[in-house]
Amino acid sequence: MKRCTYCKIEVGGNPEKCPLCQSRLVGDGEEAYFPEQSSLQFRSFLYKVQMFIVWALIFTGLGLDFFIGLRFKGFPDLHWSLVFAMWLVAFEFGIMKQFRPGASSAKKVSMVVLILTVLVVITSYYFDFMWLTRDWIVPIVIAATLIANFVLTMLDKNGNAMAYLLSSLLFGLIPFWIMYARHKGTPMPMPWIICLIISITLLAGIIIFKGRAVAKEFQKRFHI
Ligand SMILES: [Zn+2]
Repeated sequence: MKRCTYCKIEVGGNPEKCPLCQSRLVGDGEEAYFPEQSSLQFRSFLYKVQMFIVWALIFTGLGLDFFIGLRFKGFPDLHWSLVFAMWLVAFEFGIMKQFRPGASSAKKVSMVVLILTVLVVITSYYFDFMWLTRDWIVPIVIAATLIANFVLTMLDKNGNAMAYLLSSLLFGLIPFWIMYARHKGTPMPMPWIICLIISITLLAGIIIFKGRAVAKEFQKRFHI
């Protein structure tokens, strides 16, 4: 038996530390009660390593930008390290979420896409490539999200068909409608047209394959 000299207790097995006060135990251990969780420890170590690297990068960036005055060519007044830090903090947030199970994959995907889109929009605003974001990146991201959403709809056995249908409508049609209203008669950029075609096709797909499930869920929720 091992003993804690502070708590005056005996502890079975072969733990390193007292379960009550976390002090180092003394005495000879016995055969361990539980197998050692080395893989979990390794994961937690990796998590700390990446976190350390991320913070080191953030502070290096801030230092180079604010104290040494290192700037991007063509952007002499831009504090790029803030944009850089924003991406790294978001990355850290994403990793943290990954380690916490719970939310459904559809929710996770939508969340990631939403955060990434906001980051890209902010970045393109400061680095002056808004047109690229508006005409190419956003429609491509939306199309990719709709495809992922469709695949998840087909795989999900828990009957969240209505949520998928609604998110598909939300992601697919509303952004296109906003863009269309802003373009006022001038032709829409090609990626947006392709995005619209994909969104309508997949929406039809969800209705064809999961229409019955959606109708059932609808009845259940609204007591019709
Ligand atoms: Zn103790």
